[in-house]
Amino acid sequence: MVRTRIAPSPTGKDVHVGSISTGLMNYAWAKKNHGQFIIRIEDTDRTRLVPGGEKRMLETLEQIGLHADESPLIGGPYAPYRQSERLSTYKKHAEELVRKKMAYYCVCSPERLDRMRKEQQAKKQIPKYDRHCYHNQEEVKKLISQGEKYVIRLLIPDRKIVFNDLVRGKIEVDGKNLDDQVLLKSDGFPTYHLGVVVDDHLMGITHVIRGEEWLPSTPKHIVLYESFGWPLPLFAHVSLLRNPDKSKLSKRKNPVWASDYLEKGILPEALLNYLALMGWSHPQGKEIFSLDEYVSVFDIKDVQKTAPVFDPVKLEWLNGEYLRQMSISNLKFEILKFYNNKLPEDIVIKTIPLIQERIKKLSDYLPLCEFFFRSPDKYESDMSVSKEMFGQVFEELEKISDWKAGTIGESMQSLAKKLGIKNSQFFMNLRIAISGKKISPPLNESMEILGQKECLNRISKFK
Ligand code: GLU
Repeated sequence: MVRTRIAPSPTGKDVHVGSISTGLMNYAWAKKNHGQFIIRIEDTDRTRLVPGGEKRMLETLEQIGLHADESPLIGGPYAPYRQSERLSTYKKHAEELVRKKMAYYCVCSPERLDRMRKEQQAKKQIPKYDRHCYHNQEEVKKLISQGEKYVIRLLIPDRKIVFNDLVRGKIEVDGKNLDDQVLLKSDGFPTYHLGVVVDDHLMGITHVIRGEEWLPSTPKHIVLYESFGWPLPLFAHVSLLRNPDKSKLSKRKNPVWASDYLEKGILPEALLNYLALMGWSHPQGKEIFSLDEYVSVFDIKDVQKTAPVFDPVKLEWLNGEYLRQMSISNLKFEILKFYNNKLPEDIVIKTIPLIQERIKKLSDYLPLCEFFFRSPDKYESDMSVSKEMFGQVFEELEKISDWKAGTIGESMQSLAKKLGIKNSQFFMNLRIAISGKKISPPLNESMEILGQKECLNRISKFK
């Protein structure tokens, strides 16, 4: 049975798009193999917790369709799925390793550790714990029984640590270069390393698919699995997302939180589709496909090592393709929902054929269509110079008995001709009088939707 997971830490506003990208692979791999996909919250770094972060993260994952089979929200056979609720489990396991002499207590003060590190640096040595407490365990235990604060450290063996990564192949690290990792902190919380290994094992995780930033931690995890005598899961470390300039994706260059994109009116399915293309490509080279299709064709062995580029411009393009493929009634539904059901449905539905080809995200709708809902209060050019023209426009428009785009167009064309004004100039003036802007949806159709009375009103301001 394949069981995969994502284990996000609620240390940000929401889910990072990189977590969604690895989450997708985990989801697809589990579903493809009729297995389970689990969400576990790793909230043991109490100093970095962001209030409300976990809730938003779980909501976003739901909203975009990465539904978990087990999670803090829906529970499951291995609950709890939130690490802060599993503290006694970690402590028990850390103590077990101490008993097996594969871990040890350490009471070194931060000052001593700092001194030690500085001395090592001065001697150009790799900074790592000098095992002072390991060599004095009896004394250390006595101090602990007298109330001294302690941590538990993993005893890293002095040998090669080897494992196979499904994306990166064989990885070999010399134990000599690794620090005796703290497993249990003095506040009783586990470090990431202890928590992740204990939980992945107890929760029966078979494949750990995660970002490459965790690769340096994996040898320590291998030592932990081996120290406990547990079988290793399969590991796949996927490359981190990059900005188009190849720098690491960071908040400073582009939004990194899923909600930043959803709030702009990127559709969840388009976001997923785009993220699916990070480090993987469709066997038939398709750029647009559904989550179900992705699940059916995804294979971990096809994940590329090269760093994928997350380009928000490309994402908007793809989203635009999704919007164009939608039926008018679905797009109407999305637009209404995006604007909190505050726009009049009858107008929205009429405007969609005019803008469906033009918008790339739902938030493009209102800037383009605002003039359908209220008369412009700003005009992109000074129209007092065209008083004459608007007087005539008003008269001609008033005469029209069949208020349709075609008739409006014909009448305005012949007026432009009669007045000897260049078409481009004439229609630009008219467009601005109606919409306030130099660029708008097709003018005649827009005027038909606005209605004769409203158009005459808008024109009358300038005559
Ligand atoms: N808690 C880690 C994170 O925030 C999980 C890393 C892992 O998947 O092992 O991404």
